[in-house]
Amino acid sequence: MKAVQYRSVGAAPEVVTIARPEPGPGQVLLKVTAAGVCHSDIAVMSLPAEALAFPLPLTLGHEGAGTVAALGDGVTGFEVGESVAVYGPWGCGNCLMCAQGKENLCPRAAELGIRPPGLGAPGAIAEYLLVDDPRHLVPLGDLDPVTAVPLTDAGLTPYHAIKTSQPKLTPGSTAVVIGTGGLGHVAIQLLRALTPARVIALDVSEDKLALAREVGAHETVLSDRNAAATVRELTGGLGAQAVFDFVGAPPTVTTATACAAVEADVTIVGIGGGAALVGFGTTPYDAAVRAPYWGSRAELIEVLDLARAGAVDVHVETYSLDDAPKAYERLHHGLIKGRAVILP
Ligand code: NAD
Ligand code: ZN
Ligand code: ZN
Repeated sequence: MKAVQYRSVGAAPEVVTIARPEPGPGQVLLKVTAAGVCHSDIAVMSLPAEALAFPLPLTLGHEGAGTVAALGDGVTGFEVGESVAVYGPWGCGNCLMCAQGKENLCPRAAELGIRPPGLGAPGAIAEYLLVDDPRHLVPLGDLDPVTAVPLTDAGLTPYHAIKTSQPKLTPGSTAVVIGTGGLGHVAIQLLRALTPARVIALDVSEDKLALAREVGAHETVLSDRNAAATVRELTGGLGAQAVFDFVGAPPTVTTATACAAVEADVTIVGIGGGAALVGFGTTPYDAAVRAPYWGSRAELIEVLDLARAGAVDVHVETYSLDDAPKAYERLHHGLIKGRAVILP
């Protein structure tokens, strides 16, 4: 089968032909219908060799959807041909976190060598994807896999972050979204669907700000040195009750804390190396700073239900498997509007 792999440190992703996997006992083989391209893959491909937590080559893609192609021995509950989305942050399945469906927070996964597909285990940007356990699958039903697949990360991650901050997002409150790319443009829609907050979106690109307005941002602000001052002006000097930074670079973390109100939630979702810039004197009094990772299985089911109810409309650019390296290239240069989705 064809797959898109990151094969050696610093190299660009490549289209290769590898053996089609067979499902062992308890596993499920999917024929991939759609796979999303996330900026975290670019972060992984920028790591030096000593910081990589798994061996190469790696088949990329941690947002996956497919139809069930074959069931391993003992698997029940799914039929061949059924359309499903994959919950990516696989845990041990047995600990207290996993028992609550919060496999993204499993403290044992790393020591047991359990890694998400595309982030250590073979990923979804391939013709077939092996899923270790049917509990990682959520039926898609009538949802279009092409627009639903980004919900497994670009939807689930902001959903988890926003849900945690919902108590702060009361009528009259303001939420700031920094970076309105794959995750950010879904975050704006989730904020509008789940909260009465006024949404202010920041980005460095006018095209992304236009997308932000299209998907429901009340105000858009160019993300430069003056951005936090503009947010303060727009909030009568008080700042925002919740700030979601989908870039996480030093300048955006500085903006995030500078535009937060007292007692705000500042959530650094992006992994751009700026998360250390918080603390007394920088962060408003009693503001809470969080760095969440992905979301729970239950939250993925909720996000897909929101999509079914028409509350989120993921903007996608589609690419063939052969063109996946081009999608990564465009994402790297900030040229993707919404999410790039690969159709193998
Ligand atoms: P993306 O490239 O689609 O979007 C990033 C957006 O940020 C783009 O619109 C870009 O124009 C904008 N941007 C860049 N610099 C900016 C600046 N200085 N100010 C404002 N906007 C700026 O990326 P994505 O796939 O949406 O991922 C966003 C971030 O979230 C990445 O760092 C990714 O690694 C991270 N991520 C984290 C988790 C988690 O669980 N914590 C999960 C998924 C992704
Ligand atoms: Zn991701
Ligand atoms: Zn666990």
